[in-house]
Amino acid sequence: MSQPVLVMKFGGTSVGSPEAIARAARLIREQARRRRVAVVASAMSQVTNRLLATLDAGARGDSATVEANLARLRDKHFAACSDLLPPERQAAVRARMAAILQDFGRIAKGMLLLRERPPRSVDEAAPTGELLAARLVSEVLCAEGVESVAVSGADVIVTDAVFGSAAPFLDETATKAEEALRPLLDAGKVPVVTGYNGSTRDGVPTTLGRGGSDYSAAIVAAALGADALWIWTDVDGILSGDPRIAPDARLLSEVTYNEAAELAFNGAKVLHPRTLAPLAEMGIPVRIKNSFRPDRSGTRISGQVGGREGVRAVTSLSDVVLISIEAANSTLSGAQLMSRALAAAARAKVEVLLLTRSSFRQNFCMLVHGGDVETVLESLRGELALELAHGYLRPIGVDRSVGLLAAVGEGMRGTPGLAGRLFTAISKENVNIIAIAQGSSELTIAIVVNQNDLRTAVSAIHSECGLGRRTERAIA
Ligand code: ASP
Ligand code: MG
Repeated sequence: MSQPVLVMKFGGTSVGSPEAIARAARLIREQARRRRVAVVASAMSQVTNRLLATLDAGARGDSATVEANLARLRDKHFAACSDLLPPERQAAVRARMAAILQDFGRIAKGMLLLRERPPRSVDEAAPTGELLAARLVSEVLCAEGVESVAVSGADVIVTDAVFGSAAPFLDETATKAEEALRPLLDAGKVPVVTGYNGSTRDGVPTTLGRGGSDYSAAIVAAALGADALWIWTDVDGILSGDPRIAPDARLLSEVTYNEAAELAFNGAKVLHPRTLAPLAEMGIPVRIKNSFRPDRSGTRISGQVGGREGVRAVTSLSDVVLISIEAANSTLSGAQLMSRALAAAARAKVEVLLLTRSSFRQNFCMLVHGGDVETVLESLRGELALELAHGYLRPIGVDRSVGLLAAVGEGMRGTPGLAGRLFTAISKENVNIIAIAQGSSELTIAIVVNQNDLRTAVSAIHSECGLGRRTERAIA
C-alpha cells in the first residue's frame, strides 16, 4: 500500500506574482513536512492569454506583436526569478526559462510563415506558461530546502488527440503517473506538475481546454489515488450566489460532487466543469481554498453532505443563446429532428446547456454558450439543409437576448412545491420565464429568462430560498 498523497493545485492568481508564488511555496512546505505532496500549477495569471494572443498575431503575420510579446513574457518571468531565487541559482533558471520561451518562439514564428495557427501546434505552444510557472515554484521550493522537481503534464497525462479540449485516458494515465511521479514521492521529493497539458499515446502534445488546470489536478489526484485534492484559488470557496448579484451570498462550507459539478456547468467560475468526475468516482474529497487567506476553511466537496434541504445555491450565465428549431408542418418526426440536431451539436463539439421540447408543435430549443453560436449554427444548417431548403422547417431561430439561471441542491429531490415557489418568486418580480428544464435527478432547475431580467431573477430566488448570510434557513 503506498503512502497517502495530498495534491495541491495553484491557480493563475495564486502564482500570479512573485509574492503569490512565495506564499504558495510556504503553503506547500507546511504540508510537505507532514506528508507526501504533489503540486499542480497553472500559468501566472494572464500569461496563457498573452501566449494565445501571440500565436494569433503570428497567424496574422504581425511579427512586431510576436516579438513584443515574447519580450514581455521573458521580462515577467525573469523578474520573478530575480525576486524569488538566490543569486547563485538565477543564471541556470533563466537559461532554462529562455529555452522554454525559445521553443514557444519557434512555434509562433512558424505561424508567421504559415499565416495560420494549426490546432496541433497551438497545443504544443499554449502550455508554455505552465512550464515556466512550474519551474519557478519548484525552484523556490528547492531554495527553501524542500526537494522538488518540475514535471510536464505531457509526461503524466495520456489523452485523446482532440486538440484544444483533449480528454484523458485514466488507466493509462495512472500507469504513467506511477512511473513519473511515484518514485519522486517515495524519495521525499515534491513534483510540481504543469496543469493544462497532456500528450497522446504517441507523445503528441495536447491541452485539456482553457481553465483546464483544475482538471489536470483532478486527473493527477485520481491517478495517484490521492487522499485529498486542495484547489488554491483567489476566492474563499463556493458561494450560494454571485456576490455581485446577491451581496449577502454565503460561503458554502460543504457541497456534494454533484452540486459542485452542476454549479460549475451552469456558470459558477470557481471550478472547471469537467474537474469532478474522476474524483467522484474514487471518492477523493476536494477542498477549495483561498491562497490569499489560507486561514479560511474554504469549501469541502465530497460524496455525502448530510441534512441539507432545498436549494443550496443559485448561479447564472448571461452569455448564452437560445436556438429554436420548428417544423413547418407535422410530417417531420420531432424525435428524429431532435436527435439529428443534437448529433450536429455534438459533431461541432458544442455543449448544449439546456434542451426543451414542447408537446404538439414540433418545436424544441437548445441553449448554448454565446461563443459557440456560429459553430453550432453552421453544423445545424448543414445537417438540416434539405428540410430548410424545402420549407419543412422554419428558419432556425436565434435569440441572443436570453440568460440562464440555475437553482442547485441535492435536497431539492422529491421536495414538492419547490419549482412552484421558484417560479412564483420570479414572476412576482414581473420576470417572464422563457424556458425551463429539470432533469429527473432533480438536482437542478434551470430557467431561461430575458438577459435584462437575469439579476432580478437570481436575487429573487436567492432570497426566496433563504440562501443569504442573515437567514441560514434553507427551504424545505
Ligand atoms: N493557464 C490555462 C488557462 O489560462 C489553464 C488554467 O489556468 O487552468 O486556461
Ligand atoms: Mg483556473
